Amino acid sequence: MSEERSRDTPEQAEFRSHCRAWLTANPLPDAPVRLPQSAIEIMHTAQLDYLREWQRLAYAAGLIGCDYPVAEGGGGRKDCQIVANQEMQRAGRPFLPNILGLGMAAPTIHLHGTQTVRETLLPRLFSCADIWCQGFSEPGAGSDLANVQTFAERRGERWVINGHKVWTSLAHFADWMILLARSDRTNKYEGMTYFVVPIKAELGRAVTVRPLIKITGETGFNEVFFDGLEIPDDYRVGAVGQGWQVAQTTLLHERGAGPMVTPSSGRGGDPDRQIADAYGLIDLARTSPRAGKTAADDPVLRDRIMQLIIRQEGSRQGARRARVPALCEHPQRIPLQAKLVMSEIRQDACALAMEIQGAASSFAFSDANAPDGGEWALGYMNSYGVTIAAGTNEIQRNILGERVLGLAKSK
Ligand SMILES: Cc1cc2nc3c(=O)[nH]c(=O)nc-3n(C[C@H](O)[C@H](O)[C@H](O)COP(=O)(O)OP(=O)(O)OC[C@H]3O[C@@H](n4cnc5c(N)ncnc54)[C@H](O)[C@@H]3O)c2cc1C
Repeated sequence: MSEERSRDTPEQAEFRSHCRAWLTANPLPDAPVRLPQSAIEIMHTAQLDYLREWQRLAYAAGLIGCDYPVAEGGGGRKDCQIVANQEMQRAGRPFLPNILGLGMAAPTIHLHGTQTVRETLLPRLFSCADIWCQGFSEPGAGSDLANVQTFAERRGERWVINGHKVWTSLAHFADWMILLARSDRTNKYEGMTYFVVPIKAELGRAVTVRPLIKITGETGFNEVFFDGLEIPDDYRVGAVGQGWQVAQTTLLHERGAGPMVTPSSGRGGDPDRQIADAYGLIDLARTSPRAGKTAADDPVLRDRIMQLIIRQEGSRQGARRARVPALCEHPQRIPLQAKLVMSEIRQDACALAMEIQGAASSFAFSDANAPDGGEWALGYMNSYGVTIAAGTNEIQRNILGERVLGLAKSK
């Protein structure tokens, strides 16, 4: 952290002091309920209420939206969100619940939205007064996102939306959605338009949200059906037919490669629990019984833990190259690598944790006998979603190969 401090501009240094002082003076009360491992697994209003209040307080203290213009509800600062992220993480604060809004909707609205949309929607997004979700994927449009079929039909100054979205994280709580819809069936890439859509106001009428239950029993994501939802043309983001280009801004930020630094997704629950962090395996091995000793007494296991820590540390150090301009000739190189590698390390760390726990890893996370509250096993199951969300790791490899390394296109 001192290294980060030494790189600070005068504005960042002053802002870092503000963040530290505020975070020290304002400890969070303990959560009244078990928190999920990430924002896209929030399923109870009690979890949401606690995290929502945390985001509200952090925004009021200036730690969110720091680099956005004041007129849009931001702090009007320069390169300060990164500082706030570092300090919130250092203080062990939980993740911010409106992560799809902060991470994807806000930068897209800021860069492509009308002034009215920017000034009315962004302050409420930052403060978590409104929760946002992302309506891109459909049953036939995941990796091939340009195949979206949800249709937006123009009727004068209004649009009528019909269609079916799927895997829509947080839609069961969302007030607003960023929507990629088809507006012209005769043109694939130039036939899409991007909107911001108020979904909660029309729930049970033109909008139906149906939660999907995951293998963990959690309801992180949903299906969303539009049945003649009418919205004004004011909610269009970008030009008619330019939705694909606008969506690229969303996807770049979703993959950590966009121009706006977004609040980090952070970690839920007890900040001292090192779930899904390879270092956490050390404590786990020390406390897990094995043949009259502990798992940490097994040299082969110790070696495997070290291999994972080396991979994890390598990836973290690799991410620091993002600060070296000569290594950033392609903006997607380091963020895409980081998402790919870290999602696989996380999966491998959880798998090794379950091996260390042995049969005890089969207790559900709600079971009082589950070691570490069952978080490692839960993390293992959720880790598969991380290798799929934001574009599957196969697609990330294609992008890295074709766009970053310039290799021949896959068929
Ligand atoms: C936890 C989670 C949260 C999500 N949240 C949201 C959300 O909030 N909003 C939203 O819009 N979407 C969301 N998604 C959806 C996600 O973006 C899609 O699942 C993802 O893009 C993959 O699409 P698909 O599921 O249709 O799989 P498909 O595209 O059908 O892919 C199936 C398999 O084929 C492989 N494949 C496909 N094409 C290629 C290719 N060209 N080369 C090599 N392999 C290929 C894929 O890698 C995958 O293994 C979420 C997904 C998850 C898991």
